Amino acid sequence: MRIVFLGPPGAGKGTQAKMLARRRNLAHLSTGDMLRAAVAGKTVVGLVAQGYMERGALVPDDVVLGVIEEHLADGKAAGGFVLDGFPRTLAQATRLDEMLVSRGAPIDRVLLIDCPMEEVVRRLSGRRSCRKCGAVYHIETMPSKKDGVCDRCGGELYVRDDDREDVIKRRFEAYNRSTLPLIEYYEKKGILIRIDGTAPPDAVATAVEKAVAG
Ligand code: ADP
Ligand code: AMP
Repeated sequence: MRIVFLGPPGAGKGTQAKMLARRRNLAHLSTGDMLRAAVAGKTVVGLVAQGYMERGALVPDDVVLGVIEEHLADGKAAGGFVLDGFPRTLAQATRLDEMLVSRGAPIDRVLLIDCPMEEVVRRLSGRRSCRKCGAVYHIETMPSKKDGVCDRCGGELYVRDDDREDVIKRRFEAYNRSTLPLIEYYEKKGILIRIDGTAPPDAVATAVEKAVAG
């Protein structure tokens, strides 16, 4: 099974992608996580990506495509995967199609997690991420058991640099400008399913499960 999660920053893509990947034993491929790891590791990709990410802009297509191609070629994704935060531009989507079609393994479903701007800002302002394992919490809706400590690995929870209100606004603008056209692109292929992302996480997960099973 090959699934893409689409939706604005903060809609809950990562939360749902991780849950689905765990339930179905699929690889979870988040370009945001990959790029943050590259920045933390001060790799060549990380040094290029850092400035774009800090100001809420998209990282250039060739850089992101290089990163994702590496992970798709990895045997861990061979049994199926959940893409989270990729593709984000038409150029990325068409390149992804080329890569997958050449392997005879196209995308099965694209799940659009719908969420309005006001709710996205509220979610991202309260998001806490684990520095060690990448688990995601929310101070009000999905708090960790112990303040500032990850339930899963005991790692430190932190506020992402790009989860500040001015940067959130720019990320939302980048979504509207570059990623919205993908809705029509996947609708035309007949593989897009819209999911109400404003519901509680478990209700969204039920809708996700129904969408991938149907
Ligand atoms: P994305 O990957 O789309 O940027 P995340 O999955 O990281 O979004 O979620 C953004 C924030 O919203 C996190 O703090 C997460 O805990 C919280 N969140 C995710 N889904 C829901 C939901 N259905 N209801 C309320 N809060 C949610
Ligand atoms: P995310 O973790 O998905 O919210 O992504 C965080 C940041 O990483 C984004 O604001 C972009 O700067 C960058 N990024 C992640 N995925 C992509 C992508 N597919 N294309 C371009 N930039 C990306």
